[in-house]
Formats: sequence, C-alpha cells, structure tokens
Amino acid sequence: MKKGKKLYEGKAKIIYATNDKDLVIQYFKDDATAFNNQKKTTIEGKGVLNNRISEHILSNLGQIGIKNHLVKRLNMREQIIKLVEIIPIEFIVRNVASGSITKRLGIEDGTVLKEPLVEYCLKDDKLGDPLIAEEHIYAFDWATKKEIEKVKKMILRINDFMIGMFRGVGIKLIDFKLEFGRFKSNGKTEIILADEISPDTCRLWDSVTDKKLDKDRFRKDLGDLIPAYTEVAKRLGILHEQSNVSAVNVTKLSSIKKRK
Ligand code: 5GP
Repeated sequence: MKKGKKLYEGKAKIIYATNDKDLVIQYFKDDATAFNNQKKTTIEGKGVLNNRISEHILSNLGQIGIKNHLVKRLNMREQIIKLVEIIPIEFIVRNVASGSITKRLGIEDGTVLKEPLVEYCLKDDKLGDPLIAEEHIYAFDWATKKEIEKVKKMILRINDFMIGMFRGVGIKLIDFKLEFGRFKSNGKTEIILADEISPDTCRLWDSVTDKKLDKDRFRKDLGDLIPAYTEVAKRLGILHEQSNVSAVNVTKLSSIKKRK
C-alpha cells in the first residue's frame, strides 16, 4: 500500500490518502489538546499508545459484530482505515457522571447513572462542540432517523462490551465519545464506527482507587499521563507486564529504525 498526500489534519491525528480509493492511513500524533484547543502540548509516546489501545478495542468490537473502520495497524503510529464520510455528531455515552455534565447540570462527580445516557454534540470546534437534541440532527439533516436508530443500537452494544472488557481488568468505564461514518462501497452505504477509542476519548478510573487513567490527567494537570495510558495498555494485555519498554522508548526505537 502506498501512502499518498495528507487529506486532513486534526488535533490528535492525520489522515493520508492511499492508492486504494476506499482506504486511508490514520496517523496518531503526540499532540494533546483540551478545552477547545485552549490548552495544548505534546506528550511523547501518547500517539503510540493510543494507536495500540484503539486497535485492540476496535478489533475486539469487530469480533462481536460491530462494523468499524479499522482494517489493520501498520506500525507504531499508523493504521489503515476505511475512508468514511463522518457524521458530524459526537456521541457521548455516560455510565457515571463526570466532566461537562457535572458542571452543566450540577450533578455530583462520580454519580452512578441508572442506565447509560447518550448525549449528542455537534462536531464543530469553532462552536465548542455544543450539546444538541436529537431533533436538531433531523432538523438540519446531519443524519437520518434510520441512521440514528442504527447508531443507538450499536452504541448500547459497544458500551456493554467495553464496560465488561474494562471491568475484567479492574477499570471503571465512566464515559466516552464515539464517532460514526458512512462507508460507501459497491454502490451501498453502511454506517460504521469510526475515529479512535482510547484513553483520549474515554474516562477510565481504577476500580478500587478511582485513580484517573485517561486524558483528565492532562486536562486537570495531574501529570503522569504516559504511565496511566501504559497501565491501561498493560492491563488490556497489549503491553506485557514484564516488559519495561516505555512508550517513549518505543517511539525512540521506531524513529531510529526509520532513520536507518
Ligand atoms: P465531556 O462532555 O465530559 O467533556 O466528555 C465526555 C467524554 O467524551 C469524555 O470521556 C471525553 O474524553 C470524551 N470527549 C468529548 N468530547 C471530546 C472531544 O472533542 N475529544 C476527545 N478526545 N474526547 C471527547
């Protein structure tokens, strides 16, 4: 597969064309942003960990029948993915109240929700990804009712699977963000899960101590983001317990290889 020109650069990823019109390469950057780009830094090794963790979660979801954009991981920082037309909605799934909902509605941080709550935000950085009602989606033709019904069913299965997967390794899945896209192939269009699922897009708390193992370590200046993401990867069995190769060393190794 040949890597072509850059098609899009986002806050944490870059998309490159390939010689196959249906496939693109997704490159995971080390950049971290928060609060609508007001807080920015680079955290060496974050992209490597997110590439691995997202690959693990999306391939497991694929195995339970959740169609998604992942084709295969190429290397430390890149994956081949299906080219989709992204639905311009961020689907937020909450099991426990934390983050924006606690501020918006005055709910106490850590309140366990009776059932999963799905919120919709318009994917628009200039507007700060505002919360919208389902009706807005139909009023402005961002997606059809049929598409949203399909997405809702997929979301509940994804949430059930991910809660179980993380619970099994001593992690509580507090909330997360999903994106979906339209994949057009052979004259047919289907809705598939897109983007990434990683500690950048989920809130993950240790089951016993409630220690934050996600991007809140950056948002709240808690430090030790790489050790926390590495801990998630190790618990999921992606990095081996005995291996002391940190993500940073892994990054250095891969850049040495490239220079040769
Ligand atoms: P909140 O609404 O509390 O800011 O976010 C809820 C969940 O969705 C958190 O797990 C958060 O990481 C994720 N999330 C919401 N919007 C974004 C976004 O624009 N980028 C990323 N990486 N995650 C988001």
